[in-house]
Amino acid sequence: MKKTAKILFLIASALFYISAVCSCDLANNSLSIDGSTTAYENQNIATHVHSFTEWGVTKLPTCTQRGRKERACDCGEREVESLDAVGHLPGSGVVVKMATKKEDGIEQTRCSVCNMKLSEEKIPATGSIGLAYAPIGNANGEKNWIVTGIGTCQDDDVVIPAVWEGCAVTAIADRAFSGCRGIREITVPSSVTHIGSDVFLGADSLSKVNYNAPYSDIDNPFLHTPSITEIIFNGVAVPQNICNSHSNLKKVTFGESVLTIEKDAFRDCTSLSVLHFSKNLATIEDCAFSGCSALNGINLPDHLTEIKYGAFEECVSLVSVSIPKNVRVLSNDVFKGCVSLKNITLPEQLKSIGDYAFAGCQSLVHIDIPETVISIGNDAFANCASLKKIKIPDGVKEISGRTFSGCVSLKEITLGGEITSIGTLAFYQCESLGAFTVGENLASIGNGAFDGCDSLYEISFIGTKAQWEFMTKISDRAWSSGSQISIVRCTDGVIYL
Ligand SMILES: [Zn+2]
Ligand SMILES: [Zn+2]
Repeated sequence: MKKTAKILFLIASALFYISAVCSCDLANNSLSIDGSTTAYENQNIATHVHSFTEWGVTKLPTCTQRGRKERACDCGEREVESLDAVGHLPGSGVVVKMATKKEDGIEQTRCSVCNMKLSEEKIPATGSIGLAYAPIGNANGEKNWIVTGIGTCQDDDVVIPAVWEGCAVTAIADRAFSGCRGIREITVPSSVTHIGSDVFLGADSLSKVNYNAPYSDIDNPFLHTPSITEIIFNGVAVPQNICNSHSNLKKVTFGESVLTIEKDAFRDCTSLSVLHFSKNLATIEDCAFSGCSALNGINLPDHLTEIKYGAFEECVSLVSVSIPKNVRVLSNDVFKGCVSLKNITLPEQLKSIGDYAFAGCQSLVHIDIPETVISIGNDAFANCASLKKIKIPDGVKEISGRTFSGCVSLKEITLGGEITSIGTLAFYQCESLGAFTVGENLASIGNGAFDGCDSLYEISFIGTKAQWEFMTKISDRAWSSGSQISIVRCTDGVIYL
């Protein structure tokens, strides 16, 4: 109430003040403000028409900034207008870097007024001079070139250019360099999408290849070129079979553009010992390095997400591998037969280990299986003859068939409490295996699961005798046929088999 009264009082005071100090007398064309009177008599003011001078530029416009012009009247009135920027005036192109045989050059265009760089164009590398070409059309009706032979080129380091006489070089003809014994090194440009057959047949000195083609429809273009010892890839995908069975290939480097290594790319490259993976590599396809028997260490990059079937199978010299953190699945057969593999680090988020993934890794003494793993395939660790101890994560519900068969050194196994089944021959011939404990969820044991487990006399079962008997009744009746197990310790007593 008190506040409202105060507001009302203020409004009333303001109205009174306005009426007191301001009064207009329109009849006299006079306005009185606060007692002083100013006369304005429109009809009596002499009309003035400005008479301006010519426009004068007071600020010149530049290539990029506006200018200004002004004019004035005697009365003191001034007018100002702005002037548009004039824009750059391109000069003629200047070669700032000459194209060489292998490297692109650069041509720049600058403003002839302010010298600002306006554009830059690539001058394609010249490649080797004297190669033979034939014109071919592409799908868009444009002219392309196919390299048909060595021509008059004398180089021992042959560089096929991406562009020749203004058109793209997109193909290499069948047998283009066959019998060229003088070629030591070859560069295939990024423009090439087709390579014929037997291109380097009999090019006996060819030892190094710079392979920049992104993709191609080729299959083992270097098939009859056993002299190759080194390849550098700078395409997106390394084609399948590209070096399949190259027995002299020692060193392979993958540039940062490489995302995928296609299947069988380096299969049975028995001398391959130096691999430099690109940091962007995402996928290694089936059997890409299987049988690379000289490979003793690999440094897999962090971006890698997929290592597919048999990728490093039978890499018999491989000692140490760390699986990158983004890999969730270890595919079937991935390290099968890696008889020297001693150190393997699995990533924290791994979900599954495929069939035969480490089968026959007879040097593997120890492996930590991450707690995130929920499935381990058939034969995954079969014949890992040195494996001493293993802990199965709680999330794994089934021990698959033959998973640990032939693990003759396996003494100690810790099974998760959730195990529901132990597969056929799961621990076949685990002759060192001692007593272990299994949870009450166990619902089946497969045929011969513990056959040949010569040291295994008893099992502890966290369940009742009745539960055990019920379980074995519905399990394969041959589950204990060849085993030494004679005692099952249950929570309510002992069962003698
Ligand atoms: Zn004027
Ligand atoms: Zn300019």
